[in-house]
Amino acid sequence: DGPLSAVMRKALERVCSTLLEKQEELNALDRAAGDGDCGNTHAQAAKAIQEWLQDHVVPGCPGQLLSVLAGLVQEKMGGSSGALYSLFLTAAAGHVTEGQSNAAAWATAMHAGTQAMRRYGGADPGDRTMLDALCPAVDELMKLTAAPPGGQMAVLRTAVQKAASGAESTRDLTARAGRASYIAAERVTLPDPGAVAVAAILRAVLEALEG
Ligand code: ADP
Ligand code: MG
Ligand code: MG
Repeated sequence: DGPLSAVMRKALERVCSTLLEKQEELNALDRAAGDGDCGNTHAQAAKAIQEWLQDHVVPGCPGQLLSVLAGLVQEKMGGSSGALYSLFLTAAAGHVTEGQSNAAAWATAMHAGTQAMRRYGGADPGDRTMLDALCPAVDELMKLTAAPPGGQMAVLRTAVQKAASGAESTRDLTARAGRASYIAAERVTLPDPGAVAVAAILRAVLEALEG
């Protein structure tokens, strides 16, 4: 692996181990308002990615890696999350290439992925979905497209905090998309599992980049 490949491998390994640690917590959150499998879908994705990492060299082109991940989650993750992450990753893939993989390109890729998820998934922020964590984080990340005064890592740290508070904010939201919108739930006071997962994924990436 080249230097960028090594960083991407490390970030993915951290994301996968985090998701496996959170499997039961995410299932419990999904049981409160959905069908109880959100930890399982994320764990299936994590295991598929871990297996792939064992057998493959991580490509130096990030877009190529994101396309591989899109295929893996489409095939192995299942659930709404699998389809939505696949859309996200496919749209993001076109924005980070071997020659263009600076922080600004990654931010643009995350933004494109989020827009694709919104367009095809039909949900908006405020609907109690993973978008409630993703959108505030990506808005922050877009500061990377101009030289941010406090530096790039500061932007990433703030984006992770915004994802976490966005996930927390879903406690008070009524589901208007996904399974949770048609499963009759007593007033749910737990956060949306997909949003909690997004916040955990972004934190894992930050930890990998810092560590
Ligand atoms: P399923 O609902 O099919 O069982 P998961 O349990 O894996 O799938 O994922 C559920 C999560 O998917 C929800 O917690 C929510 O965050 C997210 N989600 C569902 N529908 C949408 C949508 N239209 N847009 C964005 N996120 C969504
Ligand atoms: Mg579910
Ligand atoms: Mg399900």
